[in-house]
Amino acid sequence: MKKILQDLSRSELNSLTGGLGEKKFRAEQIYLGLMQGKKISELPVSSALREKLLARFEDEPVRIHKTFESADGTKKFLFRLADGNLIEGVLMQYKYGNTQCVSTQVGCRMGCKFCASTLGGLVRNLTAGEILSQILAVNRACGGNLKTRAVTNVVLMGSGEPFDNYDGVVRFLRNLTAEGGIHISARNVSLSTCGLVPEMKKFSDEGIPLNLTVSLHAVTDGERRRTMPVANKYKIAEILEACDLYFRKTGRRYIFEYSLISGENCDEEHALALARLLKGKLCHVNLIRLNEVKERKLGSVGEKEAYRFLGALEKNGISATLRRSMGSDIGGACGQLRASYLEQSEAPITTDRQTKKANEMEI
Ligand code: SAH
Repeated sequence: MKKILQDLSRSELNSLTGGLGEKKFRAEQIYLGLMQGKKISELPVSSALREKLLARFEDEPVRIHKTFESADGTKKFLFRLADGNLIEGVLMQYKYGNTQCVSTQVGCRMGCKFCASTLGGLVRNLTAGEILSQILAVNRACGGNLKTRAVTNVVLMGSGEPFDNYDGVVRFLRNLTAEGGIHISARNVSLSTCGLVPEMKKFSDEGIPLNLTVSLHAVTDGERRRTMPVANKYKIAEILEACDLYFRKTGRRYIFEYSLISGENCDEEHALALARLLKGKLCHVNLIRLNEVKERKLGSVGEKEAYRFLGALEKNGISATLRRSMGSDIGGACGQLRASYLEQSEAPITTDRQTKKANEMEI
């Protein structure tokens, strides 16, 4: 695979074109073109320069392969990467803007028992430019530009564990939030992690004040280990400590994701234990009724049960919401769309040797 031009920051792009003997304004033209979602072959520069770039870089690192539209306005995208791998993304319409959910890896090696993204393990990390290009492609396809964006908010909740691709994700976040580009402010970005404590701590010092979201899904380490293998490595207490550190460094309150799984984590006792665990913390809890994945045995809960759980949290002083599941008529969520495509073996999966090793490695 060739390199990805969208990996570069504005100043790196400047140096690159300078090195090719081009004037500075050319770098600006290229940068603005890329940020509008243009392919290299569409950039408004000389054909000689385009050829030079095309010899080294992918023309279109992320292409929208298929679009699915839900009755509630949610759009689901299947993207094809330059090496043929497929990833998925969603664009959800809210009153305050449009939120795009992006993937950070092809597959995932975290092994959560309820999640479809992890079914085939990790295939590979996405580069910063491949993560950014998902947004650039959707913004363009939905009629947005750099002034009036069709994508206003971003959540890193597609396939992959963002902190398992730390360098790629941090580079992506810097380029996403940079002025002059697509420029989505960190306040409008949420990053969801299964709780990789060392990376959470390291991220506190990056100076990127986004909405840190942690997938908790259990109230004790023992119960968490039943559905999330990462719980063998990090304790809930350590996760809470890392969240507090993030708050101290950035002033941003943090959010916990808690998927309600029948018979696992949604009795009243669980709600009370969760309230005790989070009492006095500047956090919010997002409840979601499990999206059933057909390859997995875990079941969801009814609406009534979910509201009862929410009520118990609120009664005990915890700020919480029950999230609506959007676009469930177009293939569910959390890796299910890609999984159903892989079943039809549309995508060549290329698990290189290094990634195979990564899958076998302890998390
Ligand atoms: N690796 C990151 C991002 C994962 S996806 C993380 O673990 O946070 C975003 C959220 O969806 C996570 O909270 C994840 O646990 C949750 N999720 C995954 N599969 C799900 C399912 N089938 N039903 C409900 N939530 C699910």
